Amino acid sequence: MQYLKNYINGELVAPLSGQYIDNVNPATGEVYALIPDSDEQDLALAVEAAKSAFPSWANTSAEERSKILLRIASLIDSNADRLALAESIDNGKPVHLAKVMDIPRASANFHFYGTAILHEYSESHFTTPIAINYTLRKPIGIVGCISPWNLPLYLFTWKIAPALAVGNCVIAKPSEITPMTAYLLSELCIEAGLPKGVLNLVHGYGHKIGQSIAENHEIQAISFTGGTATGKKIALAGAPLFKKISLELGGKNPNIIFADANFEAALTTSIRSSFANQGQICLCGSRILIQQSIYERFRDEFVKKVATLQVGDPLNVSSDLGAVVSKQHQEKVLDYIKLAQEEGGKILVGGNKVILEGRCENGFFVAPTVIEGLSAYCRTNQEEIFGPVVSLIPFEDEQEAIALANCTPYGLAAMIWTENLPTAHRVAHQLQSGIIWINCWLLRDLRTPFGGMKNSGLGREGGFEALRFFTEEKNICIKL
Ligand code: NDP
Repeated sequence: MQYLKNYINGELVAPLSGQYIDNVNPATGEVYALIPDSDEQDLALAVEAAKSAFPSWANTSAEERSKILLRIASLIDSNADRLALAESIDNGKPVHLAKVMDIPRASANFHFYGTAILHEYSESHFTTPIAINYTLRKPIGIVGCISPWNLPLYLFTWKIAPALAVGNCVIAKPSEITPMTAYLLSELCIEAGLPKGVLNLVHGYGHKIGQSIAENHEIQAISFTGGTATGKKIALAGAPLFKKISLELGGKNPNIIFADANFEAALTTSIRSSFANQGQICLCGSRILIQQSIYERFRDEFVKKVATLQVGDPLNVSSDLGAVVSKQHQEKVLDYIKLAQEEGGKILVGGNKVILEGRCENGFFVAPTVIEGLSAYCRTNQEEIFGPVVSLIPFEDEQEAIALANCTPYGLAAMIWTENLPTAHRVAHQLQSGIIWINCWLLRDLRTPFGGMKNSGLGREGGFEALRFFTEEKNICIKL
């Protein structure tokens, strides 16, 4: 049995309490590692280490910080297969997906911010004719980064890399459900020569160590990705301390298919945007809005394709879907499918848990599920399920599509499929979503602002947005 360790002050250390949490492989249901159940004492050590490291790291040149971040990126690349396998075992996702998506993106995050910091600039304003102002951006100090289980290393590094790039010291907590690649990253940070105390990883429960990070007086900013209910707790803990807070939360994203869409492209991409990573991506389109005139054709073709998807051992290359992340999550998804039926929905395909034979007989698998016949306002169509479940909803015209798309409390992402450019622009302008993809999905450019509106979050990540979040601005005015 492997015992994971915290990474504090440049060293891998056991939790002071000696307490551990089971780490379960969701494809087999077996406990395969133990995670530190960290508490306030461990956090105090991490804060002390970060405080000592901060003055020197903040004054390290951008070139030097860049070199270290790029070394971490290249170590992720050279360990890519090992990390992809670890991510698949920890999370249940197909290993081929981890290889092409999660791990390359983790490396890209360090590479992107390791180079972005070399191009950082600040503004100056000339106050004719008497003064000149310039804006200074300084690292905040100690910042907290808390990430979820669905894209573990991908989202963890998306926060850590910009925070470190601008000179902060970081206290980070991965989800206790998927801690393995964060642990492996701490080994790589040591190998890359990241100075001690600059990055500290404390593992453990969200309600315990996560909440302590949110409440800690010395941690001056929190970048959080996770559920909306948890986001609220972080905001409540941070507000009285006037912490800077960035919240990337849940979604109930509409995938709008107009009658004039490129049918094949919309169909094929909708399979991916519905079921990639078992539907456990905050950007998945869980509500497919289809224009009435093509509704039946799209529905039938979609269901035919979904029926061919293979749910299987995440280590098999032929598996399209692996396990969902935990038994508890499997139950939550199945409960929502039951609710959908109670609300009058008809299951067109799936709707059940999948029991595999052999190694994965005790794993947590759910069949990709398509539902129709539900009101857009019922709970199934309003609440985030975060699993391989989509609901089909017909619409008559553009105005109805916009109204249906905007009718949930969320506003993270939306997809629009149409060959008519004016329609695409008009609809995009009226959707209440922070991220809109036209005729594509998950086509990412790391320079663009990333985040949601309404209950999907506060603030934006990505590009210079993240560098700005992790810095404190000062305006300096010089009288000429
Ligand atoms: P949670 O909100 O349950 O957890 C996210 C992280 O917060 C975990 O590390 C968790 O720890 C920690 N946490 C839990 N409670 C607290 C607390 N009181 N104080 C501080 N930290 C806490 O989300 P999930 O892990 O279940 O992730 C799924 C959610 O994330 C979905 O809603 C999804 O939409 C959203 N998400 C949003 C994205 C975006 O960019 N907008 C991207 C990806 C996911 P632990 O797991 O150890 O309890």
